[in-house]
Amino acid sequence: MSDCIFCKIINKEIPAEIVYEDDQVLAFKDINPVTPVHILLIPKKHISDLTAITEGDKDLIGQLHLAAVKIAEEVGIADEGFRLVNNCREFGGQVVYHLHFHLLGGKKLNARPSQ
Ligand code: AMP
Ligand code: ZN
Repeated sequence: MSDCIFCKIINKEIPAEIVYEDDQVLAFKDINPVTPVHILLIPKKHISDLTAITEGDKDLIGQLHLAAVKIAEEVGIADEGFRLVNNCREFGGQVVYHLHFHLLGGKKLNARPSQ
């Protein structure tokens, strides 16, 4: 059993509002949304953070981005646009150490990333 909260969601040990799933990727609603649409995309394989990806993860990283676009289209935020964010390690503000991308949309965001 893993101590990682996102691995627990993958293993269905804790609940989440899952919006997308394929062989490599899971996406679910963020429990504390900061925008009208706030979805987290994670690899099913545990990777701690973006610095831990390897050459072998190229396909996975591509699949995560394709999934983000597919979800954006499905929830109706693709035309107006959205933000896909990764918080990497301490200075990037990462709290959960299982690689994830935030899909943020449903309102106009500031042109510059927040500080
Ligand atoms: P980060 O700061 O990039 O590590 O973001 C972690 C995100 O995970 C935050 O936006 C949290 O609201 C979200 N989060 C933490 N636990 C859960 C959970 N059990 N279900 C859904 N989202 C979660
Ligand atoms: Zn994990």
